[in-house]
Amino acid sequence: MREKLEALLQEAVTELAAIATEEAFHELRVKYLGRKGALTAIMKGVGALPPAERPLIGQVVNSVRDQLEERFDAALATIRNARKAEKLREERLDVTLPGRRRPLGTKHPITLVREEISEIFAGLGFQVAEGPEIELDYYNFEALNFPKDHPARDMQDTFFIGDNLLLRTHTSPVQIRTMLKHAPPVRIIAPGTVYRCDSDATHSPMFHQIEGLMVDKGITFGDLKGVLTIFVNQYFGRGTGVRLRPSFFPFTEPSAEVDIACVICKGKGCRVCKNSGWLEILGAGMVDPEVYRHVHYDPETISGFAFGMGIERIAMLKYGISDMRLLFENDLRFLSQF
Ligand SMILES: [Zn+2]
Repeated sequence: MREKLEALLQEAVTELAAIATEEAFHELRVKYLGRKGALTAIMKGVGALPPAERPLIGQVVNSVRDQLEERFDAALATIRNARKAEKLREERLDVTLPGRRRPLGTKHPITLVREEISEIFAGLGFQVAEGPEIELDYYNFEALNFPKDHPARDMQDTFFIGDNLLLRTHTSPVQIRTMLKHAPPVRIIAPGTVYRCDSDATHSPMFHQIEGLMVDKGITFGDLKGVLTIFVNQYFGRGTGVRLRPSFFPFTEPSAEVDIACVICKGKGCRVCKNSGWLEILGAGMVDPEVYRHVHYDPETISGFAFGMGIERIAMLKYGISDMRLLFENDLRFLSQF
């Protein structure tokens, strides 16, 4: 029986050395030390021994069991340590590896133009003002001297939301909202999104305008031309020619279209300027006294001018873009050029 026990211990030690997982360990432990295990099976034979031999064999059994327990405990610790070391190796961070860089975006040309123009006018003392894109008929038309049923309303194909509610067709309502809130002097620049039922290579149903308004004592048409000339020279380059042509807008009187010398051919004549040498870039004029009546300003003591331009048109001229739709397609190959 003693030999059997020693053989059992040897066998267990050999098998223990070969296992690598906790699952295999538990199986092996049951095999040797379980209630129906190999050691129990041998111990059942003790009862059949002569009584004199029993205590001695009992000691050997206890010793073998203790040794087995010890070996199993040690083996389990080894398995767990190996697993831990493996896990640490797997999860090791290589801090010398360069990080994954995110591609850097660029500003949309519309944003670039809006920011550059706003900055030039900020340098001239103009503050940025904003207003809602869903607007009341009153601010979009009525207070800007477009009476109901006035033919001038047809100049702007309007998206109506209700009888009195519409998507603003221009940024001019910001003028009204600003003058209603502030007494003169007023000097604002109002960039924003506007909407008209119109869509082709040079028109989009959603587009952007930037509007300017300056009201104070003694403002003249000469101030209007002076401010716009400074802007054109800063934005399109020193010495760019500026020309004003008479025009009509319901909310300014007198009104003018402002042209600049063609930025493509420098005035010689090309396809973009239709060989005229000039490009129309904005509309402007002296604020009509009828507008002041709506905002409770006294046209006898103050005067002022307003101007407005399409940001898309300026971007197309500045960057030589031929189709306005490119600005709204969000093709990264196009946008990343700016
Ligand atoms: Zn030209």
